[in-house]
Amino acid sequence: MASCRGDDVGACQSLCRAKEEDVPPSEASSVPEDDTRHTPSKFFKGELGLCSKCGQEKPASNGLCSPCFRSYLFGKFKVAVTSNAMISPSDKVLVAFSGGPASRVALQFILDIQFKSLRNWDASKSQGLPVFGIGVAFVDQSTVSLNSPNLMINAIEEISSIVSELAPLHVTSIESIFGKGFNDGVKCLKELLDSITDATGKEDFIKYLRMLSLQKIALDNKYTKLLLGTCTSKMAREIISATVKGQGFSLPADLQYVDARWAVPILLPLRDCLAQELAMICHLDGLKTVQLFNFPSAGINDLVSSFIARLQVENPSRERTIVRTAEKLKPFSFKFFTKDECYDFLPSIIRPKFQNVKNEESEPEFLCNICRSPLSESEWQHFKGCIHGKCQTEIEMFVSQCCQCCRFQILPKDRASLEKFYSLLPASIRDRMTNKGCDDKRWLREEIEEFLIKDAGDGDGDY
Ligand SMILES: [Zn+2]
Ligand SMILES: [Zn+2]
Repeated sequence: MASCRGDDVGACQSLCRAKEEDVPPSEASSVPEDDTRHTPSKFFKGELGLCSKCGQEKPASNGLCSPCFRSYLFGKFKVAVTSNAMISPSDKVLVAFSGGPASRVALQFILDIQFKSLRNWDASKSQGLPVFGIGVAFVDQSTVSLNSPNLMINAIEEISSIVSELAPLHVTSIESIFGKGFNDGVKCLKELLDSITDATGKEDFIKYLRMLSLQKIALDNKYTKLLLGTCTSKMAREIISATVKGQGFSLPADLQYVDARWAVPILLPLRDCLAQELAMICHLDGLKTVQLFNFPSAGINDLVSSFIARLQVENPSRERTIVRTAEKLKPFSFKFFTKDECYDFLPSIIRPKFQNVKNEESEPEFLCNICRSPLSESEWQHFKGCIHGKCQTEIEMFVSQCCQCCRFQILPKDRASLEKFYSLLPASIRDRMTNKGCDDKRWLREEIEEFLIKDAGDGDGDY
């Protein structure tokens, strides 16, 4: 627990003023499951059929007893939160809830951190810093899913019963992103999806609309961070799918613990936990989940999912290996929050770690209009060419600012369908183009580049 040790960073305010009797995550998280069988004493405990950590109780999962397994998982979550300075005391965190084990655990763990912070806050004399708030969002996708409307009504009731005592719940339907009445919204969404012929493109597009819906809930209700339950297993699937779809350049963007590309930055504190572990903790702790079948899954995403499931059977560490391999790619600058105030709550001794790095790498990225992937150099050049006269219409401009993957899988090929597709898009997607373009810093810098005086012998333009 890098920032929780007190000795190296001091007390890190409301987030991690954990006392000794709290779960000791540093110990917990430093038990990589692979290592347990090589340590003689642990091996001995294991031999006796007892937990490999405390040696007291019967193992429940990964050779650990139920409390040790829980503190091992919670430790990973807490390390991710604190070492990336994810949450400041003044934040309002919105947890995206799908009903599944990952988001259920994410909600439970963030509530646990809040509970401990509140307890410490109550106990502290200064009462200076507040404790962050939590809300929950659920996006009803019944109009595009396999669930019958009745099943969805029951599911929402169940979700309300799970969440109601824990935090405020915001439910929105995916079609509300169109800002029209229910029937018009559904019609719009269906027509838009009908114009996408590729099954994978359709599925991915729904995923982007879901993110837009979550962002809207967060903005409308003044949340400052959006927490997703993305775990190692899901990430491994996304990595292989992105590779197949030709999104290699933008791949690191989706792996970051913090993703500040969005108006409300996204947090991924479960990034280091496996789906199987999360399902196990739900089972052990009796955390209720709701099973929903969201998509008629077909195409690349589904193929990759079954491919990785087969690899996992052969070797249970495959998912982790895939994520670790992808981690070697260079991250984008938006792995830090863009506002300096986001780090104000940190003790001054570690604050520069975040602020300085952020300033060094603050090259702005140009993002795809649809999926928000950073555009690669060739996509950027293509877009610049279009600005310089090749594009005549607003639609051409919009298309030129989309990544190759979206152009191939989502945008309709023929002119008439493309025009229809564009006219149906939610305003929040179409507005991206008008807001961007000429006021972008990179754009501006390249436009005035020839007038800048360069240092002699520095071809890279260090001016
Ligand atoms: Zn134990
Ligand atoms: Zn895209």
